[in-house]
Amino acid sequence: MSDCIFCKIVNGEIPSAKIYEDEHVMAFIDISQVTKGHTLIIPKIHKENIFELTPEIASHLFEVVPKIANALKKEFNPIGMNLVNNNGEQAGQTVFHFHLHLIPRYGKGDGFG
Ligand code: 5GP
Ligand code: ZN
Repeated sequence: MSDCIFCKIVNGEIPSAKIYEDEHVMAFIDISQVTKGHTLIIPKIHKENIFELTPEIASHLFEVVPKIANALKKEFNPIGMNLVNNNGEQAGQTVFHFHLHLIPRYGKGDGFG
């Protein structure tokens, strides 16, 4: 999609702090991290939200989630981590290219929840 921010990140038009990339998936640091290491995981193909995901895309995304979560754990040493996903405006989605949030947690007052 030509006017999608995350498609632009995938094709390199918009820079990002990349955490992980393979043929189908990219992960990069959220531009306004709610906690240190807040990361977004996206399919490279443009799918608006969970209702558009195919089982293949969903399966590949979740295949890499533990790898990325462990890389963040090693890098930032959090004491916990949230996996968050918003679908639709009413659910808090602001970028309409499917993404998972991985939010490392550091304890009370860490900025999330
Ligand atoms: P949503 O509210 O749709 O679940 O989350 C969208 C997320 O994308 C937000 O946390 C927001 O900070 C992040 N975001 C928006 N624009 C950019 C951008 O250009 N680069 C990066 N790295 N993150 C972005
Ligand atoms: Zn897109």
